[in-house]
Amino acid sequence: MQRSQRIRGLTGGGSDGWDVFLKARRMIADGVDVTELTIGEHDIRTAAPILQEMHSAAMRGHTGYAAVPGTVSLRDTVAARVQARTGVPTTRDNVVITPGGQAGLFAAHMAACDPGDRALYIDPYYATYPGTLRGAGAVPQAIRTRAEDAFQPRAEAIRAYSRDAASLLINTPNNPTGVVYADATLEAIAEICREDDLWLISDEVYDTQVWEGRHLSPRALPGMAERTLVVGSMSKSHAMTGSRCGWIVGPEETIANLITLATHTTYGVPGYIQDASVFALQQGADFEAQIAAPFRRRRALAQDLLSRQNTVGLIPAQGAMYLMLDVRATGMTGEAFAYDLLEAHHIAVMPGESFGASAAGHIRVAMTVEDAAFARALETLCAHAERRAA
Ligand code: PMP
Repeated sequence: MQRSQRIRGLTGGGSDGWDVFLKARRMIADGVDVTELTIGEHDIRTAAPILQEMHSAAMRGHTGYAAVPGTVSLRDTVAARVQARTGVPTTRDNVVITPGGQAGLFAAHMAACDPGDRALYIDPYYATYPGTLRGAGAVPQAIRTRAEDAFQPRAEAIRAYSRDAASLLINTPNNPTGVVYADATLEAIAEICREDDLWLISDEVYDTQVWEGRHLSPRALPGMAERTLVVGSMSKSHAMTGSRCGWIVGPEETIANLITLATHTTYGVPGYIQDASVFALQQGADFEAQIAAPFRRRRALAQDLLSRQNTVGLIPAQGAMYLMLDVRATGMTGEAFAYDLLEAHHIAVMPGESFGASAAGHIRVAMTVEDAAFARALETLCAHAERRAA
């Protein structure tokens, strides 16, 4: 049977940059002790009290079809949280609950783009972005950034494509770069969106992981609430990656359309997961800081270690659970370096090239193993880079 072009063409061909990761997994299956600094997932599991709430919600009977838009209680909680964090008036009518941020990204593009519309995204990018945009029927267009600008997009680079585009997807704090967009960057982006009548899709799943500067949600900028769809998630802020609970915040009519989309696709998120998410969000900022603390600590550790050598460059690590390291001094591509490091020292990192051409000659290091092992791996990585550069 002929499968649809849409499904066959989702990834645009190629390996999608997961080869080093898959090789590391094969080595682990063969019994090799690999330090994995690849996947963006906490080394802790969901906290027991959240699981207890999930269990009691299920025992209370919240196991049937849940309300498709999300429970009133979770939508109200998310709305209040967003309003408190941004100052933008937000009610439950501005919120739809989705099965994770990933489903939110897809749905947001379904709302913003007609088939064939151009959807812009910033390179380097979270690995699913181009496929998500294609899946929604849009034509993805990468906007290149430069290591020299700490991967903050330049207005003129966006303007080269914005006139005919339907949407622009941004992500701050950023995966894979660890950069937090400056207010000036976001103001310039907002200006382009207003002038060229673009939807802004703002992926803010790392908004509780900011080490330097501040997180500004562009929905709060003048004239932006009506054209911004914010994608949020419980995954990173509350170590609930497996629970698949996220949301989209946006204009009421668009949220109403997205609820209709949910009715015809996901049919909502399990009620016991939503109840546990309300409980988790009620734990407040201190709890969220606890979840983020290991990454904050390891980022400080990394800054210290990397300051004692000058072969490996560190892109300003301002937020999220990643470091973007410049290994161009070795003369190797990020991919060649990642394979070399895996073979020589059994340390797995992601090649920068996996996240787009702008991150060539870089590697992404996830700060997702315990502190001592993390520090050892970074020291080994730097020593390895020094030998290769010599
Ligand atoms: N956006 C970014 C930038 C991510 O890194 C991730 C997960 N790694 C997601 C969205 C999706 O996360 P989830 O579906 O678990 O909410």
